[in-house]
Amino acid sequence: MLNQTIFAISDDNGALPELCAGAKSLASRVIAVVFGDSSAAEAAAGCGADAIRYCPVSDEGAPEDYAAAIAAAVKKEDRAFVMLNNSIRGRCLAGRIGVLLDTPVLTSVGAVAEEDGALICRRMVYGGTAQRSERFAKPYGVATISGGAFEPSAGLPACTDIAQLEGEPEGGIRRLSRAEKKEGGVNLVAAKRIVDVGRGLAAEEDLALCRELAGVLGAEVGCSRPVAENNKWLPKSSYMGITGVQVKPDVILALGVSGQVQHIGGINKSRVIVAINKDKAAPIFKNCDFGLVGDLYKIVPALIKKLS
Ligand SMILES: Cc1cc2nc3c(=O)[nH]c(=O)nc-3n(C[C@H](O)[C@H](O)[C@H](O)COP(=O)(O)OP(=O)(O)OC[C@H]3O[C@@H](n4cnc5c(N)ncnc54)[C@H](O)[C@@H]3O)c2cc1C
Repeated sequence: MLNQTIFAISDDNGALPELCAGAKSLASRVIAVVFGDSSAAEAAAGCGADAIRYCPVSDEGAPEDYAAAIAAAVKKEDRAFVMLNNSIRGRCLAGRIGVLLDTPVLTSVGAVAEEDGALICRRMVYGGTAQRSERFAKPYGVATISGGAFEPSAGLPACTDIAQLEGEPEGGIRRLSRAEKKEGGVNLVAAKRIVDVGRGLAAEEDLALCRELAGVLGAEVGCSRPVAENNKWLPKSSYMGITGVQVKPDVILALGVSGQVQHIGGINKSRVIVAINKDKAAPIFKNCDFGLVGDLYKIVPALIKKLS
């Protein structure tokens, strides 16, 4: 474990326990930064951090307004590592903090480990066909961490060192309006069971079959990228892979998914992968724990009957 501070920063309190658990396994002190008033910090008290600093973002403001205040807090340390969640906001904030700390930013980091006194970040490159390991050559490092990189710890004592972050927001961005997204999203990162729908599904109405299976399994429904991007049968937030959501449920059931490396990169941390595909040469069979060669239109109804 390194004798230094890690800042765990998230615009989504739900991602904080995972970031803090990872940070705590790597460094002696973890400071969490949340966006909102003191009640947001109180709500995050069980995240596992040694201290929590909150940034009271105004209704018209944005987390990025606090980049300078966060960088100033980081600079109080001789060396520090800044981890942010890998959301769009997290990446914007990371860029600004990186500039202010005069250090590069690594995005979509899938794993961080301590080796020989340094933090090594690993992430997928070349469309998921290779993995690159990098470390910062400067005293400060900034990285956005993909969901599922760490395992959150449960039952932690509530943090009592809670205070407002020192410094004023810059106010460079002003929100004009906020509208709810029309597409209903699912939280695949937190799902314990997922039915993963691929292009083997012949028609949009057949999603009802997949949803029925998900219902009896108590699972969420996710998909491969073309099902969301090309067919537009499910929201884009439902597709898994290196450019989509990275999940690690207890079990994932891949229906008519070929198993291309870009998709596997998003599901390969699942505890158990079950694949149903009619092509016995499909690459998914090299990446699953249980494989069924056959027509999903015959197997899924039989599974629903058996499991109901
Ligand atoms: C830069 C880049 C990034 C990408 N990022 C992602 C990503 O993040 N996520 C992602 O998913 N993809 C991504 N892709 C696309 C990826 O390469 C694949 O094209 C995609 O994952 C394939 O989706 P699929 O398996 O659903 O479809 P297909 O590859 O078309 O496979 C369909 C499968 O269904 C099987 N099948 C057909 N009918 C049946 C049936 N009745 N019963 C059982 N099986 C059946 C077929 O045998 C086939 O194996 C990316 C591509 C690029 C170039």
